[in-house]
Amino acid sequence: MENQQTLSAICTECGLCCDGSLFPKAHVIDEEDQATAQRLGLTTFEESGKRYFKLPCPCFDQLCTVYDVKRPHICKAFFCEPLKKANKGDISLEEATKKIKLAIQLRSEVKALASQHETLKNLSVHEINAYFKNEGVTYIKQFPVLFMKSSALLIALASLRKKKE
Ligand code: SF4
Ligand code: SF4
Repeated sequence: MENQQTLSAICTECGLCCDGSLFPKAHVIDEEDQATAQRLGLTTFEESGKRYFKLPCPCFDQLCTVYDVKRPHICKAFFCEPLKKANKGDISLEEATKKIKLAIQLRSEVKALASQHETLKNLSVHEINAYFKNEGVTYIKQFPVLFMKSSALLIALASLRKKKE
């Protein structure tokens, strides 16, 4: 159970799956789950016959601010790939922690750099990456360090997702 506590502690300081860094949306499983999400003020929507709530989650402020109340199913059920693998014993806890901490560190660096620029300062990491894709070369010339850090963050985030996603 010591492992479980360590894993929970990692999630508490992370939130990459709540703040829009890993995904722009999260699954809502049924009507009741949708009602739970809406009660918390989350924005729900349908896409290709499936229901989701929008990320970044408004309940995330450095950590989940509604951890002790009923939350959507996915909030308890989701584990990123390193955590799943560490749970199964496929990789060590240290290896999982290293991957997650690298992404957390890069998110901080990207956010710190973005905060210096009016156009980027209020954007989520996901939106910053989308901006980067749209602006291309112009963006790279304007924000070279941010470009490098964003690229490194994309790679670090990819290692936290399931391969086929
Ligand atoms: S990305 Fe992984 S470590 Fe971070 S909060 Fe989500 S499940 Fe926890
Ligand atoms: S309710 Fe909490 S755990 Fe669920 S997405 Fe929002 S911040 Fe994350």
